[in-house]
Amino acid sequence: MASGIISPKIREIARQSGVSLAGGGDPTSRIVDACVRRVKGWIDALGPADTFADLINIVAAKLKVHFEVIRGEDDLAAVMHQYLRSGETGFVDLRSELDGSADAVVVRLQKAPSWSDKQYVAVIDARGAKASKEWFSKWHELAHLIAEPQTKFAFRRTLATRRDPVERLMDQLAAGLAFYPELLLPAVQAHGLDLEQPNLRALVAFQKSALDFSSLHAALIATLRHSAVPTVLVEAKVTLKSSEQRAQNQGLLFADAAPTPTLRATTTAHNPEAVRRKFYIHRWMRVPERSVIRRVYGGEIACEHVPTRENLSWWESQGERLPGRSVLVEAMQAGPGRVLALVTRA
Ligand SMILES: [Zn+2]
Repeated sequence: MASGIISPKIREIARQSGVSLAGGGDPTSRIVDACVRRVKGWIDALGPADTFADLINIVAAKLKVHFEVIRGEDDLAAVMHQYLRSGETGFVDLRSELDGSADAVVVRLQKAPSWSDKQYVAVIDARGAKASKEWFSKWHELAHLIAEPQTKFAFRRTLATRRDPVERLMDQLAAGLAFYPELLLPAVQAHGLDLEQPNLRALVAFQKSALDFSSLHAALIATLRHSAVPTVLVEAKVTLKSSEQRAQNQGLLFADAAPTPTLRATTTAHNPEAVRRKFYIHRWMRVPERSVIRRVYGGEIACEHVPTRENLSWWESQGERLPGRSVLVEAMQAGPGRVLALVTRA
């Protein structure tokens, strides 16, 4: 979100969150901070929250949200039956609404008495590959209710692909809350994790022991936010660039000019210190031929988790090289055809 082009919906969220836009700039982090402070107030009054599970339970109770998690076809049928039987017509199209392209829907109950502690039902799609997103999807839906308490709605749907600025803002807020610093930082300390020398092997062990509710990728991003060392977490896969994919989908490319899929950074997550110091690797850049990331992708197990000194200038895109900076790169296999790499300033 660049400054000066803040959408009316984001303005409204800023207003409801008590965030002034007078100073200019991107209000995202101020909105996230304001909402996290609001939640902290609830926890101070209703807590304590000793675990991440306590935290989400308290926040959901405060917002009068009940979760229904769909793990299979039976769950979907049972949820629809249960609510339709009590006259909640908002569930009538649940099957088609959830069909593949949505992560969750929230229904405001029409028949619940005003005193009921269940005013909203958040239906979370956790079928198949979406299972790993269950926790995050729950927080995303709570984020809407925290950030937009005055926005009235009967039905809200969160698409799996987030293009809308509001949806992206809710993801940022969800990340801030799902990895609530007042629980995360003591866990980091208890685990003896050294964030001044971040390395993937230790971060993976930490996620397995302390943040197993979350996907590895989300947990790594959230934990690295608290490191004072500039880091970029790169996810690499063999793929076309997004522009090439679009062109191919639109039939704009002829067979003899077809682009070749290559190992690229499909996502790059910069921690705040990396942003502050302008330490960037851009999304869709080709992974350098001589990077350890390629060797790990190629199945050289001995290279996994070996911090390797490389140079940022090896990364180039359309003839432009990144600035020359010495970096340490540690890579690991993370599922079929996918490598995660931690790039830090050496
Ligand atoms: Zn949403």
